[in-house]
Amino acid sequence: MRGIGVSPGISIGRVLRVVRQKAATTGILLSGDEAVREEVDRYRAAIDHSVAEIKTLIGAQTGTTPSGAADILEAHIEMLTDPQLESDVLERIQVGKKNASDAVLEVTSRLIETFRNMEDPYLAARAADIEDIGQRLLKHLGTLPSQTSPLEGSAPARPGEHSAQADLPFIIVAEDLSPSDTITMDLRRIAGFALQKGGSTSHAAIVARLRGIPAVVGCGTSLDQVADNDILVLDGATGQLWVNPGDALLAELRRKKIAQAENALLLASLKDVPARMVDGRRIRLLANISHVGDMKDAFRHGAEGVGLFRTEFLFMEKSSFPTEEEQFTGYKDLARTSQGTPVTIRTLDIGGDKPLPYFPMPKEQNPFLGHRAIRISLDKKGIFLTQLKAILRASSFGKLKILVPMVSNMQELRVAKELFTTAKNELMQKGVSFDKDIPFGIMIEVPSAAVTADLLAQEADFFSIGTNDLCQYTMAADRMNDKVSHLCDPYHPAVLRLIHFVIQQAQLNNIPVSLCGEMAADPLATLLLTGMGLEEFSMNAPSIPTIKHIIVKSSMNKARQVLRQVMEFDDPSDITQYLQDINA
Ligand code: PEP
Ligand code: MG
Repeated sequence: MRGIGVSPGISIGRVLRVVRQKAATTGILLSGDEAVREEVDRYRAAIDHSVAEIKTLIGAQTGTTPSGAADILEAHIEMLTDPQLESDVLERIQVGKKNASDAVLEVTSRLIETFRNMEDPYLAARAADIEDIGQRLLKHLGTLPSQTSPLEGSAPARPGEHSAQADLPFIIVAEDLSPSDTITMDLRRIAGFALQKGGSTSHAAIVARLRGIPAVVGCGTSLDQVADNDILVLDGATGQLWVNPGDALLAELRRKKIAQAENALLLASLKDVPARMVDGRRIRLLANISHVGDMKDAFRHGAEGVGLFRTEFLFMEKSSFPTEEEQFTGYKDLARTSQGTPVTIRTLDIGGDKPLPYFPMPKEQNPFLGHRAIRISLDKKGIFLTQLKAILRASSFGKLKILVPMVSNMQELRVAKELFTTAKNELMQKGVSFDKDIPFGIMIEVPSAAVTADLLAQEADFFSIGTNDLCQYTMAADRMNDKVSHLCDPYHPAVLRLIHFVIQQAQLNNIPVSLCGEMAADPLATLLLTGMGLEEFSMNAPSIPTIKHIIVKSSMNKARQVLRQVMEFDDPSDITQYLQDINA
């Protein structure tokens, strides 16, 4: 069987199926003011009990629990005490004469639906948080049973358990797990989980990665065939699952598990080792993040700062444009959490595949070639100025840099810089302090910018190469379209020549250049890019140790040799084959 591998590692265990009870509305209406008052009191008591219970859970977190878990639980308290939730529920009780359980079910179901339908996968995954607080409230209202989760404490003995299996830890098989389930799971007994639902940004996936539990999600109904106490093996990297494998296969999977564990230990031992090649060339490895909460995870993987902070999410989580003050608070938090390491904040990159619900855009024939990113910022100058001022103010609290997405010509860069000067002047007139030397750089992700990198390098403070967009624009192939996505290959000589040219031009003009597209996290690209002279990579934090491992065992000589060889091929598949061979 196969699902989506969301947290790497091989787990061997016996199945423990977890079935969630679901509540349904009763439709019973209240009669009389007394009954309404009682239901309001019951609802308020359920809120108090739920908050107290979550606080106990936060207090019970041990040193081994990842800090992200407490953040999730804190967020649940905020949701439970949200005045909007309260007024929606109370309206149903007081005006609609519904009982408290029906009112909670109706309000949370509506919210769950709204979140699930959001296009952004991170926000869509927040439906699980609403479901979680809803379940907790229903438990305290007496609608759902209050027994402890089978995932907490020692797992129950199961009928039909053979002695050979009894030594094996459990692998949880369920439709989905709530955020609280994943946080409170007793890891002494649970070695992994396989879920029917979910994607890589679901809570179960996030917490699995935080806690280092191998996990496969999105397995669909194929998991129905698995029964309690079956032997299950899962590979959280590839998403593969094996049910009751034969002895030979089981032995092979055990060997693979040991080899992976050794490799994980090796990678973990590199955390505080600088990414230095054997001949001394120092490479900087930074993280791409979208939430301030991701910073701790980035440091845990050895990130030396943030090479790309995508600000879109700060905007997507709101129902209208965040004010300068709200943005300032967000960027200041980021600056403070960065512990003096550099943080590159990218200005708003909406349009194309990233719509903002409260900023309706007319339908375009070619959204990716349309009104997006810097084009919107230069059109709606007020929005851009507000963001620039908020970042500038936060620059007093850390080492911030400003990055502008999708620049396609010099004119855009010049106008953006004029607005940057306006933002600085406005703050100076008000006597607000900020970092006067904050660098102002541009993404190189449009072919016209790559080809004119020699010109742009004279006016930009730094470059960051966005290979995700650069690939699709260079190849004129939409990476989301199955029929043409094979053309969108970062190893196509056209893309490689552009990347090489951009790095060379940045060096000739003495400005820093980094690469923050997915290619930065691809082990096949590491030597090739260092051979081109790239010294800064920014990627998803969990990939950092793997890339660092390649760097610390290689030399610049070898990297240049790889570059020379690659540039001689004319076919991307020959290039990837060659890179795979040298990495093997
Ligand atoms: C890119 O295009 O490579 C990039 C990093 O930006 P995004 O993926 O946010 O478009
Ligand atoms: Mg991009």
